[in-house]
This record gives sequence, C-alpha cells and structure tokens, in this order.
Amino acid sequence: MTLRLYNTLTKKEEEFTPLDPESKRVTFYACGPTVYDYAHIGNFRSFLNADVLRRVLELVGYDVKQVMNMTDVGHMTDDELADGAGQDKMQVAGQRLLEAKKAGTLPTDAGEIDPTDPYAVADFYVHAFIEDSRKLGLKIIADADKQPELMPRPTRYVEQMIKLVEKLIENDHAYVASDGVVYFSVQSYPAYGELSGNTPDKIRSGEGGRVDEKTQLVKKHPADFMLWKPDASHVMKWPSPWGEGYPGWHLECSVMAVSLLGQETNGVIDIHSGGEDNIFPHHECEVAQTCCSTGESHFARYWFHTRFLIVENQKMSKSKGNFYTLNDLLAKGASPAAVRLELIKTHYRSQSNFTFRGLTDSQRQIDRWARLKTWLETNKNESLNQPGPLTAALPAFIAALCNDLNISGAIGVLNDAASKHDVANSPENSKGKFTYAAELDALNQMDSVLGVLDLQQSASLSDTDVDVKRIEELIEKRNAARSSKDWKEADRVRDELVDMGIAIKDNPTGTTWSKIVSS
Ligand code: AMP
Ligand code: ZN
Repeated sequence: MTLRLYNTLTKKEEEFTPLDPESKRVTFYACGPTVYDYAHIGNFRSFLNADVLRRVLELVGYDVKQVMNMTDVGHMTDDELADGAGQDKMQVAGQRLLEAKKAGTLPTDAGEIDPTDPYAVADFYVHAFIEDSRKLGLKIIADADKQPELMPRPTRYVEQMIKLVEKLIENDHAYVASDGVVYFSVQSYPAYGELSGNTPDKIRSGEGGRVDEKTQLVKKHPADFMLWKPDASHVMKWPSPWGEGYPGWHLECSVMAVSLLGQETNGVIDIHSGGEDNIFPHHECEVAQTCCSTGESHFARYWFHTRFLIVENQKMSKSKGNFYTLNDLLAKGASPAAVRLELIKTHYRSQSNFTFRGLTDSQRQIDRWARLKTWLETNKNESLNQPGPLTAALPAFIAALCNDLNISGAIGVLNDAASKHDVANSPENSKGKFTYAAELDALNQMDSVLGVLDLQQSASLSDTDVDVKRIEELIEKRNAARSSKDWKEADRVRDELVDMGIAIKDNPTGTTWSKIVSS
C-alpha cells in the first residue's frame, strides 16, 4: 500500500518513496532529546510519533534504519541567539543534580555520580531516557541495545564537526568573524529559508526571531549562525583550528545523520523528524550546513514534524508544574501503555491536549483490546465460516495509517471490528476454513503500530500494587448481582472496587477495569 506523508519541505502531502525504492531501505534520522534533564511527555509525543511512523513504514514492508541522537553538547541557556550565548545547559543540569544529591532526592539506582563532570551528568540523563523509552516501547531502544551507535552522542563526533566547519570555510559558506567565532553565512546559500519560510530577508526585518545586537555588529547577516565558538573557559571544550572551544548545536545532526545514514548517498537521507519548534532554526540550519558541504540540493527528502502537546488545555511550563515526566504519571497510577496511547492518539499535525481523563480512557481502551487478545488466544484453534472482523478490517486499518498517519481513523477501524466480536460470534457456531488464529494475527499486526498490547502484558506481569485476582473476583461477583437484578449489591461491589482505586466499564465484550489516575 502506498504511504502518503505530509512533507514540511514542500508543504503538501506526498507519496513516500525511498531514495532506493528497489532495496526497500529507509534511512530515518529522528532528532532526539537534550540530555540535560528528564524528558517530559511533550518530548515523548515527538519521539512516539516518530516511532509510529517507523512502525507504519515497517508494516508496509520497509526496512528502516533509524538513528536518534542524545544531545550532550551545544545547548546554551540563551539558545534563541545564534551565537552560543549564556551558560552551558549541562553545567546548569550538574548544579541541579548536585542540589538533588544534597537533598537526597536522586533515584536510588543513580549510583555515585559526580555532578561537576558533564559526561557523568549526560550519562545519568541518557540512562533515564533509555529506561523511559523502553517502558514506552520505542523501537529504537531495541535496535540500540544491539547497535549503540544508533543513539549517538555528539561529544563523540566533534572531530567530524570540525572537518565540516573547515569544509564550509573552504567553500565560502562560513567565515571567522572579528570576535573569533565561526559563523555560517546564510547569504551564501540561496535556499536558506526554504524549509521554514524564514528567509534571510525576513530575518533581517525582524520577523525570523530574536537577533542579538552585540553579535550583529560582527556578523555579515543577523541570521548567520554559530558553527564554532572559541572559549577556553567553557566546561566542555575541544582543540580546533579556531582555538579551544565548542561546536554550534546544529552541527551535530548534520554530522551524525551523514556519518550514520548517508555514507552511500552523498549525505542524502530519506526522513528527518522532530517537534515543530525544530523547524527553525535547527532544521533550517542543518539543511544549510549539510547541502553546502555535500553539494546536494537535499539533505532529508521528507521532513516530518509533530505539533506540540499541551496539558489540560494549558501550555506546558515550569511555573504551572505541568511538565510531567513518565515517572510522574506512573507514580499517579498510570500504565506505560496508557501513556503511550494517550500521546499518540491525536494526529501528529494537530495540537494534542493531554488530560488525565483521556489517560483513563486510553487505559480502558487498551484493557478492552487486551481482553479481546486473551479471548482470541484461548480460541485460536477454532474455525470461522468467513474472515473474522479484524482480518476483514486490517486493510482499512493500514489504509488509514497510510493516509498521512490517520491514527484516530485506524483506532476507529480497530474498535468497530472489536465490537463485532461479541458472544453471538462464538467459535462453536462456525466450522469454516478461517480461524481465530488469523484474527489474532490481524490484531497483532494492528498492535505492531499502536505498540500497546505488548507493553500492557509486561506491565500487568510486573503490576505488584494491584491484586488482579481480587479485582477479577469482584467483577464476577458484580456481574452475578447484575444478572439477578440485584442492583444494590452490584453498586456496592463497584464502590468496593473504586475504594481499591479501580474503575470499571461495561462493554459489549465484557467488563474492563483500569486503575483510576488522579491529577
Ligand atoms: P529538547 O530535549 O528540548 O531538545 O526536545 C526534544 C524534542 O521534543 C524536540 O524534537 C522538541 O521539538 C520536542 N518537544 C519539546 N516540547 C514539546 C511539546 N510540548 N510537544 C511536542 N514535542 C515537544
Ligand atoms: Zn537535530
């Protein structure tokens, strides 16, 4: 089936074809986290949408090589300025860890970390990110378990970054300014602004973002951005032809994407993803650096950007205290599978509103699918007269996803099919050539994109804080009371479950339960 994707570069939906259609190989670079702090659910919305895209590509038969960087260098507290101003964020993170260490609030498995060592701070947050991503089912983690270079760290690529800067200076795309800083010259690259719409003219007139008055005096153009900053006092520094210092933060992705994915294609890759804020300046600058060093007209052929997540209708902000991490939600009783579904169920190009109510609904939905899966597993050797509803629905499920990842459409198709699995459809009634094993396979294929049922299974196995057996006994007791129309007893049992922190819902396929998640 043909996959259609919206491409930020062309600003329209396009048919996806990889660079080498015969090989079925897709190269995919996902902008990853900065490892100066724990990733929050907004970050994970971006990473999970990239994961869904990767899973859809695999479902339709592509072999995806995905790389996701762990940014451990290059970000300053004043990132909006293009000159590397402000304090190194890694240093700020170290100070925060030091305070947490003194207060005794570091996780017990953090071990002995030295918060003054930026590499140790980065290690701490990389470890936390990998653990969260594993819980949320990001497929890149399993790849990186086997090939750690698929989750590269820019501090290990500084030599290649220096080579790239040298090449850009050689080709007159970069210059050393009077302040000793190396800048990329945006006027040397006529396509600058094609991705984001922020052309040098617009930036000069102030439309393209903040411009620092101090550096404006030394730069050829206000939009010129920093490639190397000599600063011997900096916490992370490397020798270079322009003095000891550090690289600009856009360099890393150009270098690592080309090294790990674009070696055989002169630096051209198929897909590059990130959050909407990455479009400018980050991705615009990546394109400029890469194309000016490869001479190609493209860096990534398709640009995939996820719109931001807001929380309970409000922008995420430190002051509102709504910067939830995965662990914050798990501590409130959510399951990783519910968090995953809640973060992917809104179309990636629409703003997503995270709510605790939505999280509870996601859990209910997963419980319903999980019950269906268990039922299909139990009955998988039974036969059917005709293809079962899930088997029949699979093409429509895939078609929805191939329509620019219409995930809510796909979930709707799954739910319609699931609701046809009622008791009337019981296996004893049919003796045909189709089997419930095919139904199970169709459900598993759908879940290969949603990625929640496997997570759900592993979560319930490790669920030590709920007494699953007791919950199921109470549900049976309530159902018995309902059958004998003893509504008082049914309500009493429901209340007992609520007191245990368990919500129940009656569906055509039976009663499902979920942990009540409170805000
Ligand atoms: P950072 O670690 O700040 O560089 O962010 C990592 C990724 O998360 C980037 O691709 C951002 O675009 C993305 N991101 C940050 N905040 C949000 C949000 N509220 N919603 C969706 N994506 C976000
Ligand atoms: Zn990047």
